[in-house]
Amino acid sequence: MIDFGFQKAKSSTVNLDNVDMRLYYALAEKEPDIKRCMECGSCTAACTSGPFNGMSLRQVIHGLQRGTDVRQMVSGCMLCGKCSMVCPRGINTRHLLLTISRIYTK
Ligand code: SF4
Ligand code: SF4
Repeated sequence: MIDFGFQKAKSSTVNLDNVDMRLYYALAEKEPDIKRCMECGSCTAACTSGPFNGMSLRQVIHGLQRGTDVRQMVSGCMLCGKCSMVCPRGINTRHLLLTISRIYTK
């Protein structure tokens, strides 16, 4: 196959048999602010880790809302808190990430 230096994006289709909303509901109870996210991506643009490991809080929140496993991506966060400073909705994103990590490590 010819390498053009780019490829088709991976499918974002969700297999409904694998959807597990328990984490999102548990999280929304502890961190109701997550419902205020408008997925603007400011946190992702400011992320310290993102350029090195693909960390994207926007994708994490989107994934949780779709019931997919975002454990791998969350592990790339170093809890620097930069995303908290740029969120236009005033969400304490650092605390949100900490809570997500705690739920995953239970
Ligand atoms: S900056 Fe705030 S509102 Fe925007 S995607 Fe991130 S968490 Fe959501
Ligand atoms: S706290 Fe995590 S998600 Fe937020 S900017 Fe820092 S590394 Fe990125």
